[in-house]
Amino acid sequence: MVENCIFCRIVNHEIPAKIIYEDDQVVAFHDISPKAPVHVLIIPKKHIPTLAHVQEEDLPLIAHIHKVVLQLQQELGLQNGFRLIANCDKGGGQEVFHLHYHMLGGGKIEAFPE
Ligand code: 5GP
Ligand code: ZN
Repeated sequence: MVENCIFCRIVNHEIPAKIIYEDDQVVAFHDISPKAPVHVLIIPKKHIPTLAHVQEEDLPLIAHIHKVVLQLQQELGLQNGFRLIANCDKGGGQEVFHLHYHMLGGGKIEAFPE
């Protein structure tokens, strides 16, 4: 738990979020400002500031997050596919410094421009 970290506060249920999945390691909830018909954030309960802070010992947790993503794909009706994004640090457009994956889908997702 890191003071003033909004996602740690969601993990601790101190501020409300539309939580769709929770276990001992992970929480998933709807993004407050969705960029697609389905826009969910999947976060570890452990405060890891960015993807670049993931340590060797965290790799089972990252694997677990990927399993949860595939479970949510079914539950959210994203059988056609989805986009998974982790913005890493300021250069990657990260605004909340608690590791999170954006899961986007449910509509037309544009290909990245070349
Ligand atoms: P980033 O730019 O750090 O990759 O993405 C942060 C995301 O968190 C944004 O899409 C933003 O809409 C979302 N977000 C920020 N604050 C909150 C909040 O209090 N609740 C929820 N559900 N999402 C939030
Ligand atoms: Zn945090």
